[in-house]
Amino acid sequence: MKVQSLKAVYPNYRNVVSSWRTHLWQIVVEVRTDTGVVGYGYGGGGLASLPIVNGHFSELLLGKELNSPDDIMSMWDHLYFESIPYGRKGIAMMAMSGVDLALWDALGKAERKPVAGLIGGVRKDRIDVYATGPDSEWYAELGVSGQKLTHRWNGTTDDAVASAGAAREIMGDGAKVMFDVYMSWDAEISIRMAKDLAEFNIHWFEDVLTPDDLSALGDLRPKISPINLAGGEHEFGGVGFREIAEYCSYDIWQPDITWCGGITAGLRICELAASLNIPVVPHRGGEVWGLHLIAANDACENLAEMVMGTRGADVDDLWIGNPQIERGRLAIGDEAGFGVRLNDAML
Ligand SMILES: [Mg+2]
Repeated sequence: MKVQSLKAVYPNYRNVVSSWRTHLWQIVVEVRTDTGVVGYGYGGGGLASLPIVNGHFSELLLGKELNSPDDIMSMWDHLYFESIPYGRKGIAMMAMSGVDLALWDALGKAERKPVAGLIGGVRKDRIDVYATGPDSEWYAELGVSGQKLTHRWNGTTDDAVASAGAAREIMGDGAKVMFDVYMSWDAEISIRMAKDLAEFNIHWFEDVLTPDDLSALGDLRPKISPINLAGGEHEFGGVGFREIAEYCSYDIWQPDITWCGGITAGLRICELAASLNIPVVPHRGGEVWGLHLIAANDACENLAEMVMGTRGADVDDLWIGNPQIERGRLAIGDEAGFGVRLNDAML
């Protein structure tokens, strides 16, 4: 089949977090083919990425053959090369992620296979989940295997100690407990936290410094051991992760499959990670885009993130058919492509 059209839209979100994401949250990309197969993908970059997809990328892919994973990879390389002057990372790559995922969805539908089936087959039937948010009681009831707390440095370790203690008690000794600090700590704070939190057996500290501090992260890593350093959601493509590898910045890599360049980039990142024995735990990996990669790729740990917040909070249901947590785990179904469809009411 051939690519007939490519279109990106920005959904009408009601519940996106009120930082930069209000206008720059996720886009939906639709690819139509000459056989009538339609694929959908989820990308980043919000309103700023629409002209990139609807203008430049759409012109570049019109009429291209879409019959195999290799076709998708060569389209990816073509888009990457042509967008070098303004791209390589950031919004252009977030836009490309949406296009890439739409192409994989379309190929899966054409071949009547889940995307996981196109990239090696399902090798993990049921995937362990960790919940991101503060609601330990809810997560413990769901039976998920871990909880990631968020923290912003405010001059003391006290609140981190309190929240880690509560999470450990409610989630139990076997649970993974992590901290995502969104670049608000520095090396000195991290070492202090590692000491003050030692009794709670913290699995990782995430996003401790900025993605530009790769060398400092590499220096910090052994100093907070046995706590792992995790990161990578702000990095892009195989090239970006090669830099992370050079500095040994993280124990655990967390590419966001809807930002880093889609499944194609995810496969290349996993290949590199596997060669270095570094586990990959994709950012927001409990959403189908990352989940298919986790299910199919041995470089990915058996662990998927669900950003859950608190019980009963309003959420936007943009994608219908997302796998639900059952006995603490997620499984991908046998539906073709990514197995989800759009909630038209949000477009
Ligand atoms: Mg994070």
